[in-house]
Amino acid sequence: MRAFVSENHTDLLSDLDAWLRIPGISAQPEHHEAVHRSAAWLADAFGRTGFPTVEIWPTAGLPSVYAEWPAEDSSEQTPTVLVYGHHDVQPVDPIELWNTDPFEPTVDGPVLRARGASDDKGQLLFHLLGLRAHLAATNRSSPAVNLKFLIEGEEESGSPNFERLLAERADRLNSDVVVITDTGMIAEDIPSAVTGMRGLVVATVNFHGPDLDLHSGSFGGAVPNPATAIARLAAALHDEAGRVQIPGYYDDVLELRADEKQLIAQVPFDEAEFLKTSKSRALSGEVGFSTLERLGARPTAEVNGIGGGYQGDGGKTIVPSDAFVKLSFRLVADQHPAKIRAAVETFVAVHKPDGISHTIEWEGEGVSPCVVGIDTPAFTALSRAISTAFDADVVLPVREGGSGPEAAIAQAIGAPLVFLGVGLPDDQIHAPNEKVTLSMLYKGAEAAGHLWQELATLGKLGLKG
Ligand SMILES: [Zn+2]
Repeated sequence: MRAFVSENHTDLLSDLDAWLRIPGISAQPEHHEAVHRSAAWLADAFGRTGFPTVEIWPTAGLPSVYAEWPAEDSSEQTPTVLVYGHHDVQPVDPIELWNTDPFEPTVDGPVLRARGASDDKGQLLFHLLGLRAHLAATNRSSPAVNLKFLIEGEEESGSPNFERLLAERADRLNSDVVVITDTGMIAEDIPSAVTGMRGLVVATVNFHGPDLDLHSGSFGGAVPNPATAIARLAAALHDEAGRVQIPGYYDDVLELRADEKQLIAQVPFDEAEFLKTSKSRALSGEVGFSTLERLGARPTAEVNGIGGGYQGDGGKTIVPSDAFVKLSFRLVADQHPAKIRAAVETFVAVHKPDGISHTIEWEGEGVSPCVVGIDTPAFTALSRAISTAFDADVVLPVREGGSGPEAAIAQAIGAPLVFLGVGLPDDQIHAPNEKVTLSMLYKGAEAAGHLWQELATLGKLGLKG
């Protein structure tokens, strides 16, 4: 596998060079034609690699690319694997901070710079080289698993048509395991894999008191003040130990197992450096958990904004009519957005004093969290594939603090997911001077090649555990 990858890595480089020149920015209508070209380029690349079925799937917005390559010797036990990624890229602003043209890929020693180099074009193209290596190393003319790729064209614009696409194409996407590509590792020499992403619900709570701002001399002290009430609501969200006080909030939280806690503790983490990056002057959070655990494995309740009443210069002696607080809740497995929304609504109703009316505006239905059990067969297979490619004894689990469509994919497909990504924390994705470290792509290719073999060996039954 390694020999094939190193003998052929120039193919990966020349493909990357060609694809990265296409400025497929999904957020900007003037680049939508390029997103279509990006889809066509990728479809062609799948075809050249040998995929017998390649289709461009239109949506109400920008197209996804679908490719399928069944194992020729497929049996009842051969697992079907769906790889998810995206072919669109982020905007390049502020362009003046780029040292090179974002769409003129530039190799600079060990790295390649261009918009999309890491997120997600590099991470997709290593799969094509990895698949060829897998065929060469195992002397096969088709993969050892039934392989499917679904590559979205609107991920960087919030995937507005993706869930519908998943539903419409459910019969084609049916799989036993999902492999997510657009994630990363802790460092070049610390192989790791994402094992969770947080979910999210976002709300604005409005408190309405008197129907107009009142004179604080004539009325203050005798009527409820919505600004005071909203501040009390915000303050009531946590206790002294940083624990969220919404009844039932932690009911469905999957507690970290002792072995995962131990592995997370092995993740090198420089608290001083983190503090520096945060530009905060102190760390705080739920007592009893490390910073990494707080970020990845614990849910939050965050006040994103708060206001009401007079905001201008000087004083204004009123009892304001209105006040608001903007809240967001990062969720962890197995919390459910709908249940959390209901719990928050009850909490607000209970904390709202008499004489104040309220409304709650939710931003959509929310995003579900997801978690990969480190003892599941799929993660074990991934872990072995990464270990082999990186010559490592252990693959550290990383819980991502952020949220994405991954849980929706797993739910729609009804299969476990794993994350195989080789981006690095300093790739500057979504920022000027995005780069990818080439050696990481080559190791990613090796890991992908090993993964198909590992999953085939496991078989469908083995995958179920
Ligand atoms: Zn991105």
